[in-house]
Amino acid sequence: MGRLLIILFICFININGFGQLKCGTDEYNRPFIRQYPEKYDKIEKDIQNYLRNPKVKSDGTYVIPVVFHIVYNHWKENLNDSVIIQQLNVLNDRFNLRNADTILLTDTLQNWKGNFKITFELAHLDPDGYPTTGITRTYTNVGEFSYWSNPVKKASQGKAGWPNDRYLNIWVCDLYDGLMGYAQFPGGEDWSDGVVIDWQSVGDRVYPWTYSIYDKWAKGHVLVHEIGHWLNLKHPWGNYGPCGDDHIPETGLQDGPIYPSAECPDTLFSTCDTPERIFVKHYMDYVGADCMCTFTKNQVVRGIASMETYRQDLLNNYVPKPNVTGFENTMVRPTYTKGRVVIEFPKYEGKLEIMVFDMIGRLVYKTTTTHPFIDFKLNMGNGSYLIDIIKDERRVFQEKIIINSASPYGANFLNN
Ligand SMILES: [Zn+2]
Repeated sequence: MGRLLIILFICFININGFGQLKCGTDEYNRPFIRQYPEKYDKIEKDIQNYLRNPKVKSDGTYVIPVVFHIVYNHWKENLNDSVIIQQLNVLNDRFNLRNADTILLTDTLQNWKGNFKITFELAHLDPDGYPTTGITRTYTNVGEFSYWSNPVKKASQGKAGWPNDRYLNIWVCDLYDGLMGYAQFPGGEDWSDGVVIDWQSVGDRVYPWTYSIYDKWAKGHVLVHEIGHWLNLKHPWGNYGPCGDDHIPETGLQDGPIYPSAECPDTLFSTCDTPERIFVKHYMDYVGADCMCTFTKNQVVRGIASMETYRQDLLNNYVPKPNVTGFENTMVRPTYTKGRVVIEFPKYEGKLEIMVFDMIGRLVYKTTTTHPFIDFKLNMGNGSYLIDIIKDERRVFQEKIIINSASPYGANFLNN
C-alpha cells in the first residue's frame, strides 16, 4: 500500500507538472503581515503616495550591490564562482530587458514589457571595508533548510547577512524538496532582509547536477522572481489568493499559479468573479524559465516606487568601484606548482597585497609588495587556490593555481 501511494504521488507530480515546486514568499511573510498590519499598510500607502507624484531620476538607472552567501552541506552545493557570475548575468539581462526571449510575447503583450534598468553588482567591499569577491562560502551541517525562522540567515546554522542598508543579501542553500526560494517583503526585520534560493536554481542553464524536476526552474529565473518580491511585487493571484490583488492592472485577477507547459500560452482566462485575461509570461507567475520573459510595465513602476520609498539608504550608500587598469597583464607562474609562485606586475606605484584563498574561500596566505615582482612559497596541501591581487582595497587581478606535489614546476627554493 505504501508503495502504491508513492507511485500515485509520483504520478501526481508528473500529471501536475511542477505543482510541487513553489515559492515560499507568501507563507514566509504572512505571520509578519498579520502581526504588524499597520506597518505594512504604511509601506503600501507610501508606495501609492509616491506613485501619485513620482520623481524620476535623470538617467533612471540603479545599481544594487549584492552578496551571495553560499551555505553548503554537500560539496556540490558549493557552487563555483563562474556559476554565480552566470546567475548575475541573467539578473542584469532580465532587469535591463536585454533578453531575446521576449519574442514569446504576442503583439499586445509587447506593449506591456517593463524595463527596471537595475544593475546588480557583486559587492567589492565587505561590511568592514575590506576587498571581497561579493561571494561568501560557509559550511553547514544542516542537510536542508526551511523558511521557518530563517536558519540559513543565522551564524549558528548558516551565514549572518550583511547590513541591508548597503547590500542585497542572497543566500544560496539546499532548501527542502519543493521549495525553490523565498524573499522578505519590505517591512520585515533588517537582519533577515534579502532572498533565499535553492542551489539547483542558480546559474543560466540546466547543469549536469540539476535534478530533472528542476529543469523548468533552472536558468536563473527563480532569483529574478524572488528579487521581484524583494521589490514588493506580489504573485499575480495576490498575497492570499485566489483572485487577490497584486496592485498591477495588466496582470488581471487570477485564481492561482500558471504552471509550465510546452505551449506557453499567453491568453488564459481566470475563473475569478469577473473572469479576466491573465498575463502569463511575466516573472512573478510560475510559468517556468522557458515561458517567463519579462516584468510588466506596472510591475516596474511599483518596484521602483518601493525602492525609492523603502530602500533609499541602500541606494544612497552605494560606493562605486574605483577604476584601476593595467593589471590585466599581471603574470602568475607556474600555475601548476609544487608550491613556489612568482608574480610579475605591470608598472605601478604603491603597495600591492597578495591574498591566497582555498576553494572554500578561506584566506590561507597573505603578503604585500612594493616591487614589480614577488617570489614566494606556499606550504599548502594539494588542491586549487585563488590568488587575489589587491590595490587600494580593490581586487585588480585574480588567478587560479593548482598546488600538486607531483608537479614538475615550482619546487622548493632549497631544492632548486
Ligand atoms: Zn514568489
